[in-house]
Amino acid sequence: MEILDILIIGAGPIGLNCALEAKKNNLSYLIIEKGTIVNSLYNYPLYMRFFSTAEKLEIAEIPFISAAPKPGRQEALEYYQGIARQKNININLYEKVLKVSKNGNIFEIETSKSKYAAKNVIISTGFYDIPNLMNIPGENLEKVKHYYTEPYPYAQQKIVVIGSSNSSVDAALETYRKGAEVTMIIRNSEISENVKYWVKPDIENRISEESIKAHFNAELIEIKENSVVFKDKNDEIQEIENDFVLAMTGYLPDFNFLKNSGIDLQGECLNPVYDPETMETNIENLYLAGVVCGGKDTHLWFIENSRIHAEMIIRNILST
Ligand SMILES: Cc1cc2nc3c(=O)[nH]c(=O)nc-3n(C[C@H](O)[C@H](O)[C@H](O)COP(=O)(O)OP(=O)(O)OC[C@H]3O[C@@H](n4cnc5c(N)ncnc54)[C@H](O)[C@@H]3O)c2cc1C
Repeated sequence: MEILDILIIGAGPIGLNCALEAKKNNLSYLIIEKGTIVNSLYNYPLYMRFFSTAEKLEIAEIPFISAAPKPGRQEALEYYQGIARQKNININLYEKVLKVSKNGNIFEIETSKSKYAAKNVIISTGFYDIPNLMNIPGENLEKVKHYYTEPYPYAQQKIVVIGSSNSSVDAALETYRKGAEVTMIIRNSEISENVKYWVKPDIENRISEESIKAHFNAELIEIKENSVVFKDKNDEIQEIENDFVLAMTGYLPDFNFLKNSGIDLQGECLNPVYDPETMETNIENLYLAGVVCGGKDTHLWFIENSRIHAEMIIRNILST
């Protein structure tokens, strides 16, 4: 079996960036990706706009030209998939990495299709595959969605949107504009400060004019076939009619995968242990890159500020 210099798990923007950096430095590498190229972006809401400008999403100094100041999902797919194609990056798609173990100085990587060996492994698996569940009765009903794609299925339906982050606000506004009756149930006392600055006034104005209903300091406690039950700001129980719940409660990295790979997880946020200078974990030659590094705090890292991981990792690999 060929022993690769680097095996990269995940072909998100940051995994691709690691591959480009490895290629630039003549290291042998392979990306293993369980879906398509930039699979998380492929699964984003169809009409989403990034909060970053195009140049902040660029990798390997390859220009990202966008007609609008903030690119949309399709432009980002064109950009990153175009790079993989034009730069001829080595990727195996629709192959899931199941296990990473170390035998002496060599990693053995077991996937859904094969086995590989590598001197170094980079885990750049992101956080978009595991929804952060509310763990309440009825959450498993068909009408509860943890991924929002587009507004059209919800026209003229009674929608409850959970949360007040960018994803919740986008879903509330889009469905409202396609004729849904939207109620937001929000744990906090206001719309999140992180909401895109050009969207925040829109949602706040829709709420104050009551075209979108919002219950702040409130918590959903049960989902039934035709209604939802929540505790309002006065701790009173309310039940309202409901057709669909858009539970935009965030996503989590695959902690079991990290743990089974030998990576220590620390504190309340289950932060994976790594050296911030090199991105090397507590396992020698096993690295983390991209948004997976934040543990439960998925707002810590994004493309803009984790693009640098690739260079840090490859520099460290070359120096050892
Ligand atoms: C709706 C939304 C909007 C965002 N907007 C912005 C923005 O404007 N600007 C910004 O900088 N950031 C933004 N982010 C954050 C960040 O861009 C994304 O999370 C980005 O995709 C992170 O890149 P990544 O390469 O670290 O992880 P990902 O893009 O999530 O890539 C991880 C890849 O690993 C694969 N994978 C996972 N497990 C395995 C396995 N076991 N085997 C094989 N493959 C596996 C996945 O399929 C995926 O393709 C946004 C995030 C979301 C959810």
